[in-house]
Amino acid sequence: MAINNVDALYINELFLSIQGESSRAGLPCGFIRFAGCNLRCVWCDTAYAFEGGKEMSPDEILKVVTQWHIPLVEITGGEPLLQFGCTPLAELLLEKGHTLLIETNGTLPIDVLPEGAIRIMDIKCPDSGMSDKIYWPNIELLNCRDEVKFVLASRGDYEWARDVIHRYTLEKRCAAVLLSAVTGDLDAARLAAWMLEDQLEARLQLQLHKIIWSSDQRGV
Ligand code: SF4
Repeated sequence: MAINNVDALYINELFLSIQGESSRAGLPCGFIRFAGCNLRCVWCDTAYAFEGGKEMSPDEILKVVTQWHIPLVEITGGEPLLQFGCTPLAELLLEKGHTLLIETNGTLPIDVLPEGAIRIMDIKCPDSGMSDKIYWPNIELLNCRDEVKFVLASRGDYEWARDVIHRYTLEKRCAAVLLSAVTGDLDAARLAAWMLEDQLEARLQLQLHKIIWSSDQRGV
């Protein structure tokens, strides 16, 4: 499934929006969404990125990004690390002075990414159906600029995430520990109450783009 051509990337969409998640939530951000994913999370909201994609070279992508005149850029998916061209594109964007976020599902080694990129590793909780696919050595590679994210669908997911956070002292080692509730499965108020009860050093994140726009709108 990996695509090892570094000169051609398969891109689902390029768009400018407000960053909806992470510690940069609320900032204008340019998004590069890669096509293709090696997982099938039960609650996935980007299944439209599983297949296809428009073939583009790193220079063609850079041309679009440059026209946005926005310092913050995020590479997301799908799963970007399935395409070997992700690394040279990331290097190009960093060379141009962008603050670069790369969101990955954490199933492939993240040390292929250049220093300077801020990695947001989505650690798949049991209710996603994909937690057995996590590549755990990635946890040791995270640094104080990186962020980790847990998407929670239940109390069981919350307790699992809380244990992982404590076991790997993620709240001390990473720039942010982000907890999101799956819409329709877990109420954010309940999640907030659990976090307060446990004095968990994590950040509750609401998906800002789904509050501003409709939850199924694309390109936002
Ligand atoms: S990793 Fe992301 S894109 Fe892939 S199935 Fe899970 S939620 Fe969807």
